[in-house]
Amino acid sequence: MSDDKPSDGIPTGWEPKADIDHLTICSTCGKGYDMRKLDEVLKHVHGGKIEMIETFGPPTRRQ
Ligand SMILES: [Zn+2]
Repeated sequence: MSDDKPSDGIPTGWEPKADIDHLTICSTCGKGYDMRKLDEVLKHVHGGKIEMIETFGPPTRRQ
């Protein structure tokens, strides 16, 4: 990303073209996982802290 503003989870330009674009490698264990699958993402937190908030609906876009 070209600026440091948080995106609130909303894509800011780059869009995946294929399923492989959703895959990443865990920097802790080195295994690959699909970033669209929350259960897989949470397995690779490896005891780190996650900030979670409750809200209704998708995040609103910043203007
Ligand atoms: Zn991992």
